Amino acid sequence: MLNLVLFGPPGSGKGTQAEKLVQKYGLVHLSTGDIFRANIKGETDLGKLAKSYIDKGQLVPDEVTIDMLQSEADKHADAKGFIFDGFPRTTFQAEALDKYMTSRNTAISVMLALDVNEEELKRRLLERGKLSGRPDDQNPDVIQNRIDVYNRETAPAKEFYTQQNKYCGVNGVGAIEDIFNALCAEIEAAK
Ligand code: ADP
Repeated sequence: MLNLVLFGPPGSGKGTQAEKLVQKYGLVHLSTGDIFRANIKGETDLGKLAKSYIDKGQLVPDEVTIDMLQSEADKHADAKGFIFDGFPRTTFQAEALDKYMTSRNTAISVMLALDVNEEELKRRLLERGKLSGRPDDQNPDVIQNRIDVYNRETAPAKEFYTQQNKYCGVNGVGAIEDIFNALCAEIEAAK
């Protein structure tokens, strides 16, 4: 199985690249942000809980996120592989994902981390906020908080994959197609 973790700060282009990778490699795409937003739209209990964190730019608690991710992944018993987008976002989540992969007799192949500077992230997020209507993309304080949370809680999870020799950083500034090609080259090297 080819199992990818697509990593990077908010606005780094994970969703855009995930879509292209899914098409090329036929993987199941699991985006925790998308799943939370679908639950918010459907007004489920999970959605109400998630919204209270997301609107402030905070992380949804680990246990809630991990349970949700596993039950979504369980729906795909025949997957050729997965692309995890927006997960893991803490070292604790990374450990849980490893255990889950082991329980399915597989493992994460590589973590692909998109590298984008903070100024560019803020510009992209505010731009997306205008088009998508996502409330967490429209408020500069919430955006700043998400970037701070990323630096404080999420970026350290890189270390978990570095120790396993699975961390791979890719420049996330430039043309979408060039970034995609760089990601594909790393995937071929990791296969
Ligand atoms: P972005 O990467 O652009 O911030 P996402 O759509 O991936 O957006 O996530 C939106 C929000 O959903 C995050 O700010 C966070 O509150 C919540 N979220 C998504 N994934 C996770 C996760 N793995 N753990 C905790 N919270 C998460």
